[in-house]
This record gives sequence, C-alpha cells and structure tokens, in this order.
Amino acid sequence: MTKQSAVVPEAVAPEAVVVTQPGATVPASSPVFPYPPLKAAVGLPIKKFLQKQEISSGGRVSSWDEHPSALGMFEEIVSLSKGKKIVMFLDYDGTLSPIVDDPDRAYMSKAMRAAVRDVAKLFPTAIVSGRCRDKVYSFVRLAELYYAGSHGMDIKCPKFNKGNKPALFQPASEFLPMIDVVSKLLAEKTRAIRGSRVENNRFCVSVHFRCVDEKRWVELAMQVRSVLHDFPKLRLTHGRKVLEIRPSIEWDKGKALEFLLESLGLSDSNDVLPVYIGDDRTDEDAFKVLRERGQGFGILVSKVPKESHATYSLQEPSEVMDFLHRLVEWKRLSGKGHPRV
Ligand SMILES: [Mg+2]
Repeated sequence: MTKQSAVVPEAVAPEAVVVTQPGATVPASSPVFPYPPLKAAVGLPIKKFLQKQEISSGGRVSSWDEHPSALGMFEEIVSLSKGKKIVMFLDYDGTLSPIVDDPDRAYMSKAMRAAVRDVAKLFPTAIVSGRCRDKVYSFVRLAELYYAGSHGMDIKCPKFNKGNKPALFQPASEFLPMIDVVSKLLAEKTRAIRGSRVENNRFCVSVHFRCVDEKRWVELAMQVRSVLHDFPKLRLTHGRKVLEIRPSIEWDKGKALEFLLESLGLSDSNDVLPVYIGDDRTDEDAFKVLRERGQGFGILVSKVPKESHATYSLQEPSEVMDFLHRLVEWKRLSGKGHPRV
C-alpha cells in the first residue's frame, strides 16, 4: 500500500477525516457549515462532536429569515419561473420519505409518489440520493424519472441515447471492487455494536448509527476509521446519523445536477430553472452549484433553521408534498405544461 498522508488526529470527528495520498483526488467540496477546522477539532471528544454534528447537519441559526418558506414564497417562486423550463431535483430520505430507524423501511407514501408522478409529467424530474440507485428506485418506482444514486456516482437517464434505452453514467466504477471489500470489512468490524447497520450503496457505503446507543458512537466511529486506514482512496463524510464512505473523486450531488442538466440539453440554456429539494449536508453541494450558476434555487428541508446554500426552506416531507402539489396546480392553470423529456 502506498504510504499515505493521513490527516487523522486521534480525537477528530469522523467527518473531518480526509485521507489522501499522492495521486488521489480529494473533492474540493467546501462545506458551508461551520464545522470546526481540523485543528479546532483536535482534543474535542468524538462523542460531543458527533452529537453536535447530528443536531445540526448545518450550523444552526436563530431564524428562517435567510431561507423563508417555499410555500410562503410560492408566488415569488413561480414568478421567477415565467418563461423558464423548471427541472426538479429531489433528494429521497428525509425529503420524500420520513427518516426512520430501519433504512430498509424508508417508504414514501402513495400520496407522495402520486405527487412526484404528477410533477414528472410536467417537468423533467430527477431523484438524487446517497442510496444505491436500485434501492432508491425500489422505493420510488417511477420509471419516467432520472435517478442519481450513490451521491450522484450512479446515474441512470431514461430515453437518453439514440437507442432510446436508459443510459448509465458511473464515474467511480473503478472503485466497485474496493467498495465491496470495505463494506464487508465494516460489517465485520461493527457487528458487535448493537444497532449499527452497514449498507452497501454500491459506489459508497453507509454506516447507520441511528439505533446505536449514544455511548457507543465513539467506538463505532473508531472502528470505521480503523478500516478506512488501509484505503486511502476512500474518504469519510457523514449525513443524518450515518457515516458515509465514498471514493475520493471530485463528484458529488452538485456535479450530478450539472451532468443531468447537460444530459437534458439545458446546461447552457438561460431559460432553465433548476429546483433542488433536499435535507442533508450532501445536498449542500447541489445548492451551492445553483448559487454559483445564478440559476434556479435550492430548498432545504429542515425543522430547525440552519446555515445553508439553499434559498428557501420546507419543514418536512409533508410540506415538500404540498409544494409539489402547488407547483402542479400552478402549471396546469397556466396551461403551459412542458412535455415530458
Ligand atoms: Mg436526505
């Protein structure tokens, strides 16, 4: 194994662990959240750090002034979209489905599925998730959508190529064997920690700790870190009560959004309005891309005000469904529905 330069202080938070080696590319994501810089994290007990991070996947702020409700601002939002083609990007967990203890049971309601189906009839619509693409498809079950699984590292487009067959884009395919090995090692190493759950998402691995006793969070994080020590081309991030192991390539949900716009032939278009709805730290990469493009906007799903690159907010999946309903209703009334792509 190549000698690595590992930035892994003993008591640093798992999400701050970035392992690099010459030639390995570490994504240039610059989280908006005020995570303590690495030095500040040294000496901070992992447990406290985990608690702190879990409470707020983004830094808490005192009010929603910066990110008003997308329902409350609906009229303004649709006025922005006049003459533009809306493209919808939807995260899955915590956005279309509630966050539940068992990740295998994160079902979306029939009503939500119907709302997404209606939206997709009017606007190109993509699901962008950290989950394995097949898994998220098994929850959503709408063939007409675009799916970007594994944080955008596994993209399937409907009717994309000349043969009218779904096209795949997998920028991290070389990592598949490694991810498989790491997934098995993680399952082995964490087996003794009750409530932990390793999920192989094909191009990334999730270690869920929602059901782990808080007293054992540190132990779990240390076990994960010990496995990753031998895999310098992988990096560790975290979402909502989940540690995530991903290839160190410059690819994230933001890049997936750009790829999808391009595949729709809309990347250079001025009359496109991408709307991205998500609840997780990883969705910030997409919110940030929209900010940088000066095009469209992000909507953060959260019950508490947070720092975010999103423009608007919604409190929970039920509000996401209300927003989707209103969008469909508005488009139908305006009588200018775009044909499905
Ligand atoms: Mg989510």
